[in-house]
Amino acid sequence: MHQLSLTQLSGVGGKVVEKLLKLGISSINDLLLHLPFRYEDRTRLTPISTLREGDKALIEGKIESCEVLIRKRRRLVCQIRDESGTISINFFHFYPSQQKTLLPGKRIQCFGEVTQNGWLPSMVHPEYRILRENEVSTVPDTLTPIYPTAQGLGQSQVQKLVQQAINISKRNIEITQDLLPEQIMQRKNFPQLSKSLAFIHAPPPDAPIEMLEEREHIAFKRMAYEELLAHNIAMREYRSRMLKQDDSYAVEFNQQIKQQFLQNLGFNLTGAQNRVLQEIYTDLATPTPMLRLVQGDVGSGKTVVAALSVLQCVASGYQVVIMAPTELLAEQHLKNFSNWFEPLGLEVAWLSGKVKGKARENVLRAIESGTTQVIVGTHAVFQEDVHYQNLALTIIDEQHRFGVHQRMALKEKGMKGGKAERGRKPHQLIMTATPIPRTLAMVAYADLDTSVIDELPPGRKPIKTVVIPEQRRTEVIERIRDACKNGSQVYWVCPLIDESEKIECEAAAETKEILSAQLSELRVGLVHGRLKAQEKEEIMQQFMQGRVDLLVATTVIEVGVDVPNASLMIIENSERLGLSQLHQLRGRVGRGSKDSSCVLLYKGPLSQMAKSRLQTVRESNDGFYIAQKDLELRGPGEVLGTRQTGTIGFLVADLARDEELLDEMQQVGDEILRDYPELVEPLKQRWIGDSSRYGEV
Ligand code: ADP
Ligand code: MG
Repeated sequence: MHQLSLTQLSGVGGKVVEKLLKLGISSINDLLLHLPFRYEDRTRLTPISTLREGDKALIEGKIESCEVLIRKRRRLVCQIRDESGTISINFFHFYPSQQKTLLPGKRIQCFGEVTQNGWLPSMVHPEYRILRENEVSTVPDTLTPIYPTAQGLGQSQVQKLVQQAINISKRNIEITQDLLPEQIMQRKNFPQLSKSLAFIHAPPPDAPIEMLEEREHIAFKRMAYEELLAHNIAMREYRSRMLKQDDSYAVEFNQQIKQQFLQNLGFNLTGAQNRVLQEIYTDLATPTPMLRLVQGDVGSGKTVVAALSVLQCVASGYQVVIMAPTELLAEQHLKNFSNWFEPLGLEVAWLSGKVKGKARENVLRAIESGTTQVIVGTHAVFQEDVHYQNLALTIIDEQHRFGVHQRMALKEKGMKGGKAERGRKPHQLIMTATPIPRTLAMVAYADLDTSVIDELPPGRKPIKTVVIPEQRRTEVIERIRDACKNGSQVYWVCPLIDESEKIECEAAAETKEILSAQLSELRVGLVHGRLKAQEKEEIMQQFMQGRVDLLVATTVIEVGVDVPNASLMIIENSERLGLSQLHQLRGRVGRGSKDSSCVLLYKGPLSQMAKSRLQTVRESNDGFYIAQKDLELRGPGEVLGTRQTGTIGFLVADLARDEELLDEMQQVGDEILRDYPELVEPLKQRWIGDSSRYGEV
């Protein structure tokens, strides 16, 4: 679809264009989709005597007086009178020149929120306009839309620009062309896009403001629908193009190596693990690249499933990479995989950013020549200079921590690695312990097949969770004392309370000192992201071997750490963490035969929202339920961890609010791709822009 340039707008120069860019607006088309987040009703004048506290209203009257008062706080106060009554307007910040224009006798219009303290109603810092001598009093004939603005780009300027864009779109009707098939428009009773936009940007005075602001109005729903569809299609199209273009290795199933592995394992796979493995094996057996997300709650045993997938590829002579988001988690995989694979005569290589110099050269050489078949590490495994001989499978653990955006990038890199040799792409397995609600997956992961490990290994006991205000810390300390007396071990987590890792680590260090003093009989350890790998390793070793009773940690222990003897976890500042993150952290306990508990300490007072969030974690041990709640309470950006990257930054749609629209998305997406291929490009253009984030090549 043709994008109309911003230069079409009159009175818009380079500076304004720059500021619009900051708002993500780079064309007239974008400007049309820059939507109000709130409306004000200035369509009628309210008689002063009928104003009530809290009203936002437009009034008009004559200035009776205007003076600077200095009682209590210095301020400029005007009294304004209409036929029905008097109101005072107050300015705590004002210019001397302001007093000169607010002259008694002049007529004035003010818009603001009414407060009532004292005997007159008043407005503080209202917007106002002094009417000229013979000016006929007028009011806008539509509701006033309020838009997101940027530094140096005022509200009224944005309003005017959008109005201009609307006018331009009337002359260039192709930019608001309807991109939904006629029968969908009819079935859903959707208004045309041009009508929807006109309504949204300039609603008539009787439009339902609340419904508009909550974006439940059909004009918004219609746009949300189109946007969700565009995303669904873009991801699937990307996927199908990938399938067509590329071949992976077909991995032959090898029963013997599986049997060998299971014999040494010491437990039986759960039904869910077996089922998911079967799904993976089926994918691996064909040369079509697998792209599969394995969702499984904390402790559901994803690692074993990964290991058994690795083995199949290795038995066929191919390479496999396992990547984790943190050094600590990657190290744990290294340990697990080494333990499991060494008896089978299989070596596991390690590659992280901290592997340097000669050691790194050696690893890289082994990878390139194919002598190393299993590589575990951090994102370092996908650095430019890592060349694989025949990479058949990449496994990304705890994927949600990477964010969707990074997943796309990794996919690309992973492919380049594989492509270097014989043009094959690796199969991909993504593992996450943050369950993705189904609806969210339909848009954010429409390009993935999913498998769910929906069963925990037998004998797990639920973790008892309590929520306690910080003032009752002493009680908690006693609890730690008791637990350790009974031979248990304890985690104390200090989550990020500041943006900087440095300060977070300092806070953890301080907490460690305090706790050591209060619990002098205990051996207290400290682990955080700023320790050297070796120091970290040492502390973790000590904790695993029971030589440390109480481990104070930052959220570095969030994922993967496995110490079955730990049965109590304290999480400070729990009100600041995401629900899924709390659930993950809590999953560090309850891994052995003991009864386990988790104490969520919070700093009050709690907002209603914070209360219901903590309550959710207290009441449920089910990661899927918690994720769904998290989605409802906080929105998809937070759940997916992509708020910063803005990947799932929808313009209109909200995955929680518009959930009912998602039900048919997959099917309608199919229909469009099959029957209306001509709509695909314009839809992507309109809603996703150049769509580079969907891995376009
Ligand atoms: P997660 O899915 O959170 O990554 P892990 O793979 O770390 O979980 O597994 C958690 C623990 O459960 C590990 O100690 C693992 O050895 C154990 N485990 C995995 N599968 C089973 C099973 N089928 N029966 C018993 N224990 C299992
Ligand atoms: Mg894991």
